Amino acid sequence: MKKQWIFFFIGSLLAFNLQASLFEANVQMVNFPKEQEKKIVVAIQLIKKVVTSDEFKERIISHVINGKKTFMDNNGFTNEEIYQKIIEGAEVLKPDKNKSMDVVLELYNQANNTIGYTYPHTSRIWINSKFFNTYSPVQVADNLFHEWMHKLGFDHEIKYSKNRNYSVPYAIGYLVEELARKHYLTD
Ligand SMILES: [Zn+2]
Repeated sequence: MKKQWIFFFIGSLLAFNLQASLFEANVQMVNFPKEQEKKIVVAIQLIKKVVTSDEFKERIISHVINGKKTFMDNNGFTNEEIYQKIIEGAEVLKPDKNKSMDVVLELYNQANNTIGYTYPHTSRIWINSKFFNTYSPVQVADNLFHEWMHKLGFDHEIKYSKNRNYSVPYAIGYLVEELARKHYLTD
């Protein structure tokens, strides 16, 4: 019994120490004018800095809802497991753990209130230029990361609710925005 506990303890220490020292992005852009392409490049640089930071790891692992360490719509995963899934970069459609965010981005224009969208069957993410053109790279980093969380299999309610903000895509998208803002101002 005692032995099992020791192994369990060592096991969780090892899992905890798997840190994102390297995180890559493989991003293909469709219909992006040069100027908007640059914004994606800056947003991706910010995402890489955020994902490999200690603060990102700590904030995900210590994320709480009503005193409990968890996220909404977590697919049954703990905070540690969610962090692990992010740094492994294993998309549902491309499940190799290549430590990379692999997406195709397509810019389109529509006069509605949709910022962007994607579907489970594709690695493509559609981005509405109506919003994108006015967004800062920091806001783009948030949106990209939100959409990429869908690619990792996480979802959320369609209609706004306070709980929805605690879902994996929203909560971690906001976290990326908050931490990216620090890097954007200081680097
Ligand atoms: Zn979403």
